[in-house]
Amino acid sequence: LKRKARGHERQARPVRLAAVLGSGIMGGGIAYQSALKGTPILLKDIREEAIQLGLGEASKLLAQRVDKGRMTPLQMAGALNGIRPTLSYGDFAQVDLVIEAVVENPTVKQAVLAEVEGRVGADAILTTNTSTISVDLLAQALQRPENFCGMHFFNPVHRMPLVEVIRGSRSSAATIATTVAYARAMGKTPIVVNDCPGFLVNRVLFPYFAGFARLVACGVDFQRIDRVMERFGWPMGPAYLLDVVGIDTAHHARAVMAAGYPERMGADGRGAIDVLFEAGRLGQKSGRGFYRYE
Ligand code: NAD
Repeated sequence: LKRKARGHERQARPVRLAAVLGSGIMGGGIAYQSALKGTPILLKDIREEAIQLGLGEASKLLAQRVDKGRMTPLQMAGALNGIRPTLSYGDFAQVDLVIEAVVENPTVKQAVLAEVEGRVGADAILTTNTSTISVDLLAQALQRPENFCGMHFFNPVHRMPLVEVIRGSRSSAATIATTVAYARAMGKTPIVVNDCPGFLVNRVLFPYFAGFARLVACGVDFQRIDRVMERFGWPMGPAYLLDVVGIDTAHHARAVMAAGYPERMGADGRGAIDVLFEAGRLGQKSGRGFYRYE
């Protein structure tokens, strides 16, 4: 196994400059982690306020490291300099690897990926941080699907070690090797998985959310379910986790999972996630989801 992994790594191309599209919950964390570990990264969004939020979150995390004596103020300034905010594709010709982290919507993602493919060099690797959407489906928008794969981080990016590298049917070995090597350079633990709805982790997690939604529909108090799951040993219960993930992201992802695994997800109709989504209660990001946040 070890020999195979090394052979794989030899095909990896250097990532000197990365880019992340979308400065939301995930994009901000990815930019922080890349810059912290020494790979400069462009942080692109279409909204200035999103960029400011992403940068604010990164500086907060870096300041915490300084407070704990884990880095000097000078190192903090260096890491912050490594995050290059932008609203345009101006510098994308120099980018070696892009992580798309915009909203969980296949139409938006395909449009964004097709646009960025026209802005980067022919050898640049494009990846998607999608939670559930098929990599092969997204690849249909691309001229060079061999340069494309999934790179799925977990929330919060700075704390969660796992990264799923999703191999589409046309992803080249060099694309997978480069993405695996970049994930390692970011201090993460990559695993290579094949393409299917939800990949590995969400394929397990979403039927659990479906079970939670069924209990809520039967009238069980969601706070009670959270308390029980915490006592069971989980770091947080499903309602709180959904607020952390984002109700909109969970809503879109659940639709993909329900189409992919109707037998496991169940045909529940409208549930708690839909009600919150329609009310604009998107979880921690909007100050209110299942719970209220100050
Ligand atoms: P989010 O809503 O917090 O952020 C999305 C950002 O994308 C917003 O800032 C928005 O302005 C920006 N955006 C929209 N269109 C854009 C465009 N054309 N170009 C650049 N930016 C654009 O969402 P998020 O939670 O960060 O999720 C992003 C992706 O990561 C989704 O695919 C989601 O499924 C996936 N993901 C989310 C989690 C999670 O726990 N939230 C975990 C793993 C993966």
